[in-house]
Amino acid sequence: MIAPDLETAISRLSALIEGARTIVPFTGAGISTECGIPDFRSPGGLWTKNQPIAFDDFMASAEMRDESWRRRFIMEESFAKAKPGRGHRALAGLYRAGKAPAVVTQNIDNLHQISGIAPADVIELHGNTTYAVCLECTQRYELSWVWQKFEAAGRHAPDCGCGGYIKTATVSFGQGMPAEPMQRAEELSRNCDVFLAIGSSLVVWPAAGFPLMAKRNGAALVIINREPTEFDDVADLVVRHDIGDVLAPFIAH
Ligand SMILES: [Zn+2]
Repeated sequence: MIAPDLETAISRLSALIEGARTIVPFTGAGISTECGIPDFRSPGGLWTKNQPIAFDDFMASAEMRDESWRRRFIMEESFAKAKPGRGHRALAGLYRAGKAPAVVTQNIDNLHQISGIAPADVIELHGNTTYAVCLECTQRYELSWVWQKFEAAGRHAPDCGCGGYIKTATVSFGQGMPAEPMQRAEELSRNCDVFLAIGSSLVVWPAAGFPLMAKRNGAALVIINREPTEFDDVADLVVRHDIGDVLAPFIAH
């Protein structure tokens, strides 16, 4: 059912949430656009202007590593300023109320953690861009440190003391999906009774698999997204309104 208006959407969603034992929210870029985080994949988004740097290219060339960090620092203003939006706050409320054991996200902006969800309960399919790691020894680095070294070296990316390359903790194109988050996302999808897909076009693999997994195991599927998705036909509730407007009534006070 496609909700004909915002009121109907909220009342249907409210009934589903009330009746649910275990809700699994699954979030994409759409939940963070009101926070000033650009949707890289959208038309006119960063990725349509700048081809993303694939993992193999990052590994193969110091120039690509410098370029990758240069681009990252350009975006730092948006990331550093961003605060959780209404959607993040509503989901944090469901989490605190014990309704949602975790959140699965395609986002790399750390906003679910800032909204109050324990880092261990934010399942990041594409990693996190707010810190960096050494690709060899997994040592964590803060961006401020990397930036300082980068500037001090004449805009060249620093390497780890072990000789490994330092990269944001994100999953790049051509880099394998992280096994543990994938497995946890799958388990959660199979064992929930309401699956809330929020702000994701649900086309990027493997994201597309989780709503169907949930649905096949008996969950109600809710899709909240401005644009239609391929799964709208099988969803129990489709909401095409602004995510913040839809979720604002669910922010716990
Ligand atoms: Zn290292």
